[in-house]
Amino acid sequence: MSEVAEGEGSVTLDLLKKKMADFAKERDWEPYHSPRNLLLAMIGEVGELSEIFQWKGEVPRGLPGWEEREKEHLGEELSDVLLYLVRLSDICGIDLGQAALRKVKLNAIKYPIKLSDQNGKNDANTSKNKDEDACPDNSSSVQHSA
Ligand SMILES: [Mg+2]
Repeated sequence: MSEVAEGEGSVTLDLLKKKMADFAKERDWEPYHSPRNLLLAMIGEVGELSEIFQWKGEVPRGLPGWEEREKEHLGEELSDVLLYLVRLSDICGIDLGQAALRKVKLNAIKYPIKLSDQNGKNDANTSKNKDEDACPDNSSSVQHSA
């Protein structure tokens, strides 16, 4: 596997997995990286990520008006969550990339594309569903799928 220098190219889950394994081994932290400990650490990081958005109200895409230091902090907390998720998956023997691809396929079966929405038709009967599809994070049906 070739090393990806900071700021260059794409980063794979396998590279992150190896980096996290090396990081833990070099510090003799492997005994502490149990599934439960890693899960709780990840939840703590989700809390830190949530604090960034706390009290800001709705935030537009692209984060216009945010200072660079705020975006850098956001990147750090997103990374903390990702790194613990990758490490947790590795410790549990789950191929996270393959599991995620499988889940996308399952979600596509569970939530088929609506042809009327795909073609941009927007009549009174489909406008509600179209809104949900445009922003699936707000759809109660999608929230239950994850
Ligand atoms: Mg953090």
